Amino acid sequence: MKELLSGFDEIFHRDPQTACFAPGRVNLIGEHTDYNGGHVFPCAINRGIYCAASRRKDSILQFYSESYPAAGVIGYHLDKLQLQGCWADYPASVIRAFAAFGYYPESGADFYFRSDLPEGAGLSSSAALEISAGIMLRELFSLAITPQELAVLGQFAENRFIGVNCGIMDQFASAMGKNRHAVLLDANTLSYRYAPLGEASIIIVNSGVRHSLASSAYNDRRRECERVRNMLNVAALCSLSREEFDSSSDKISDEICYRRARHAVYENQRTLDAEKALLSGDYEEFGKLMNASHISLRDDYEVSCSELDFLTETAQKIPGVYGSRMTGGGFGGCTVNLMEKGAVRLFTETIKESFETRYGRVPEIYTVTACNGAEIIEL
Ligand code: ADP
Ligand code: MG
Repeated sequence: MKELLSGFDEIFHRDPQTACFAPGRVNLIGEHTDYNGGHVFPCAINRGIYCAASRRKDSILQFYSESYPAAGVIGYHLDKLQLQGCWADYPASVIRAFAAFGYYPESGADFYFRSDLPEGAGLSSSAALEISAGIMLRELFSLAITPQELAVLGQFAENRFIGVNCGIMDQFASAMGKNRHAVLLDANTLSYRYAPLGEASIIIVNSGVRHSLASSAYNDRRRECERVRNMLNVAALCSLSREEFDSSSDKISDEICYRRARHAVYENQRTLDAEKALLSGDYEEFGKLMNASHISLRDDYEVSCSELDFLTETAQKIPGVYGSRMTGGGFGGCTVNLMEKGAVRLFTETIKESFETRYGRVPEIYTVTACNGAEIIEL
């Protein structure tokens, strides 16, 4: 990682003490289920955020990101960590979260970030940023923190200090991914298990769209699910089986809320079914569940958009493609596509051409592999 070392040196005029890579993630299935106490099925991907760091003798924290050169080095004081409304609030918030949980850094530190993950595309650059900062803190100050705790602290930082009401999936996948495996996570209990991805190829297509209504719609969806939870008097929507939900659906007075809840309950079951399909190597079945997930997100949860619908419909017609769906919160961002290795070339060509014909620009396409959660890089 020459660029990371020379970049750190250029900005901070010394060598870093330690460095790491924290991956982004793609969710294969199980969308909008985590905050409903259900299951998600993401994998960490081989794109993410690299971070190099060194302790300082004083109490200053400094952050620099190659993605924001104009912002320069952004400084905070360890004893008075006031957020500044900029990107560095993410790692600064992680330090606040550490302190809130009793992991108080002994001194300040310098952090340098480098990324090959698109921001705001639903591949969890924010979680990768948080987890990379967390790993560096753990290393610099010899803190006894498990990867699961890192995930919880990252989520706490984003919820409490950044003010984004995200579930645990993103940070968990970035911290706990496993090479060539997807991780089935029960967002309610944080119990998890891995399933091997085998030979199938995962391709991500970035629609390049980021709708401004995404965050307000996300909060609306959470509220609608909450209303149904109260109407049905259950601790979490995803604690219901499909049958239990169907038999109590007459208690849901509002048609929109009914559809939101139906998505959550059915998507949770699809996610469990997808794990079974993967464990038995049945990619065709896995793909069908992905396609059904997209329809449900489009029609019941209403978080898709025309670009995502177009990309998934086009992908699903390409020979060798098992399944295609939007991934992430929605209203733009990416689709995730599962296919046989031999289909990758035709897929890439077809998607580029047809998207360009329809929308006048070529979408970014990333061929990814499932990789380990955040790891130290030997310097
Ligand atoms: P996502 O997590 O889907 O990529 P978010 O909106 O949750 O999208 O997080 C994106 C934000 O995270 C960016 O606006 C920026 O503040 C921060 N961020 C992500 N990657 C980097 C990076 N490489 N350098 C600095 N900040 C970053
Ligand atoms: Mg994010």
